[in-house]
Amino acid sequence: MVGAWLMLVVLTGGIGSGKSTVSRYFEELGVPVIDTDLIAREQVAPGMPALQEIINQFGKQVLDADGRLNRARLRRIVFDAQEKRHQLEQILHPRIRAEVARRLQRLDTPYAVVVVPLLLESGHNYSADRILVVDLPEALQIKRIRQRDALSEIQIRQILAAQTDRASRRAIADDLIENSGDLAALKAATEQLHEKYLRLSAR
Ligand code: ADP
Repeated sequence: MVGAWLMLVVLTGGIGSGKSTVSRYFEELGVPVIDTDLIAREQVAPGMPALQEIINQFGKQVLDADGRLNRARLRRIVFDAQEKRHQLEQILHPRIRAEVARRLQRLDTPYAVVVVPLLLESGHNYSADRILVVDLPEALQIKRIRQRDALSEIQIRQILAAQTDRASRRAIADDLIENSGDLAALKAATEQLHEKYLRLSAR
């Protein structure tokens, strides 16, 4: 029902913290999950206006031979270049926000989860009712990322150094999942939060 109140849970956490896994558990519980990373990718697909704006701003060098955006190359261009990063955000952020709002409007559930990996870095504010942070000790985080991605420990440490530190992220949390246990523990933690969010959204 458009216009009905919908409680908004923004889910964030560092790379490899467990956001995608938690998202999947919420979806299994019937909770709609909107992933801003996926939306960002859709917005820069061939033929989308944002891709043309990126080409106008950064040149054809950001494209692969098949006309698709080379995200790694674009990341390198804006890495450490604040002005350029800002230009890119001005192209992407309003579109991502609008798409999130459009999807939220269509929902008819007590609450929804919006995944915003770089919540603090991006200055995004989705008027969250709850901020849910997934966190874990760095050594375990590095181990899990190494098992998932073809990245060296040095590369992972560089990515981590560019992301918000754990303390700042934990400081903004209304709810915190400590993801240092096994997957069953992570699932149980998600289910507990689901119960809590259903209670809160019913008030
Ligand atoms: P993110 O989406 O935050 O980058 P993922 O959900 O992809 O993180 O988790 C990173 C990796 O760690 C994945 O391969 C995932 O399967 C694994 N993982 C996450 N949580 C656990 C856990 N509690 N126990 C074991 N492996 C886990």
